[in-house]
Amino acid sequence: GKGAAMVTAVAYRLAEQHRQIEETLAHFRLTKDMLLEVKKRMRTEMDMGLRKQTHEKAVHSRRDEHGDFLALDLGGTNFRVLLVKIRSGKKRTVETHNKIYAIPIEIMQGTGEELFDHIISCISDFLDYMGIKGPKMPLGFTFSLPCKQTSLDTGILITWTKGFKATDCMGNDVATLLREAIKRREEFDLDVVAVVNDTVGTMMTCAYEEPTCEVGLIVGTGSNACYMEEMKNVEMLEGNDGRMCINMETIYDRLVDEYSLNAGKQRFEKMISGMYLGEIVRNILIDFTKKGFLFRGQISETLKTRGIFQTKYLSQIESDRLALLQVRAILQQLGLNSTCDHSILVKTVCGVVSKRAAQLCGAGMAAVVDKIRENRGLDHLNVTVGVDGTLYKLHPHFSRIMYQTMKELSPKCNVSFLLSEDGSGKGAALITAVGVRLREETSS
Ligand code: BGC
Ligand code: MG
Repeated sequence: GKGAAMVTAVAYRLAEQHRQIEETLAHFRLTKDMLLEVKKRMRTEMDMGLRKQTHEKAVHSRRDEHGDFLALDLGGTNFRVLLVKIRSGKKRTVETHNKIYAIPIEIMQGTGEELFDHIISCISDFLDYMGIKGPKMPLGFTFSLPCKQTSLDTGILITWTKGFKATDCMGNDVATLLREAIKRREEFDLDVVAVVNDTVGTMMTCAYEEPTCEVGLIVGTGSNACYMEEMKNVEMLEGNDGRMCINMETIYDRLVDEYSLNAGKQRFEKMISGMYLGEIVRNILIDFTKKGFLFRGQISETLKTRGIFQTKYLSQIESDRLALLQVRAILQQLGLNSTCDHSILVKTVCGVVSKRAAQLCGAGMAAVVDKIRENRGLDHLNVTVGVDGTLYKLHPHFSRIMYQTMKELSPKCNVSFLLSEDGSGKGAALITAVGVRLREETSS
C-alpha cells in the first residue's frame, strides 16, 4: 500500500544520500600507489629546489654555547617573546621564559610599520616584565613564513600567509624591518643576530640533545620540513664540503585555495596543516548541507565563517574517547546545531580529511629520509626527526598515521621522531648563540 511505498521512497533516498556522501569522501582516500606518486613528486621538487632554491647555511652549535638571548616567535599558533638562558659546563641547560601576545587583526593586516611597531612594543613590555630592560641583548627571530634566506641575519619575506597581510613587507628583509622599528621607538637597543625558520629551530633544538637529528618537521598552523643536505648537491653554492640545511618549502597541486591569502601557493601544505584542514572540512560540510544531508539544509552564518574549525576542535572531535553527545556539544559550541546522526557524519568528514593529511605528510617525509639515505650511499639509514606543531601534538591520530605511512614508503630507513620542546624559541637562541660566537671569532 501507500505506507510501504513511502518507506521504500525513504529507504531509497537514504541509500542515495549515502552513495553521494561516499562518492565525495572517496576523493580523499589515497591508495599506496598514489602516495608513492606523492613521494616521487616531492623528490622531484626537492631536486629542482636544490638547483634554484635559497637555503640556510647550517650553523653547528657546540656543546659550550652559552648566554642569555631574546627570541621572537612569529607565524605559529601564538606570537611570543622569549628569554632563553643557555648554560654550558657540566650540566648543560636551556631555560626559557616566555609571554604570549595578541596581534589584533587590524595590525596583522595594516601597514608594515604598524605591525613591527607592535612587535617592538610587545618586546618592550616583556623586557619590563622580566626586569631586563637596559643592556643591548642579542635576538633571534623565528619567522615561520616563507622567506628567502640569504645570510644568517637576512630573511626576505616572499609572501604573507597565515592571516598576515601587512603592507610594505613582501620583498623586504624582516631583520631590517625589525631594526628600523627599534630605531623608531628610541627606547632600547637590540642586536638582531639571526632570522630562523621554525623547522630549522626545531631541528637544532633536537640536535642539541640527539646528534642523529637531521630533519626538522612542523605540523601546526602551517607545515614544512628541513633536512641536512650535502653541500655538493647544492648547485647555487660554491664549495662541496660539509652539509647545509635546506628549507624544503614546496608547492603541490590540487586543493582549491582561492580564498586563502596566498592563492595558488603552498598547496601541499594546504592539504596538511591545521590552518587549512578545518577549512577543507567546513567546505565539505557546506556542500553536504546544500545537498540536504546536514543541518536541515540550512547554511548558518557560523558555517559560512572562515576559520571556525581550529586545530583544537578537529582534534577534539576526532578523539576516540569522546561520546557522540560530546561531539555534538562541540559543534553546538561552534554554533552548529546538529543531531547525533549529523555528529557522526561530521566526525567522519574530519577523519577522512585528517587521515589524508597525515598520509601526505608521511609520503613527504619518506621522500626526505630516502634522499638523505641515497645521498650517503647507504643501504640502511637511522635518522631522527625533530618535530613540533599543534596538529602533530594535539591530534589523536595524526602522528601515528603519518609514521605508519612513512615506514611503509621508506622501508630502508629507520626513523625516530623526537618531539621538540619549544624548538622555535630554543632553536632561535641556539642559532643566535652560534652567530654571536662566530662574529667574535672573526673579529678577534
Ligand atoms: C611557512 C613555513 C613554516 C611552516 C610551519 C609555512 O606556512 O611558509 O616557513 O616553516 O608554515 O610553520
Ligand atoms: Mg611554532
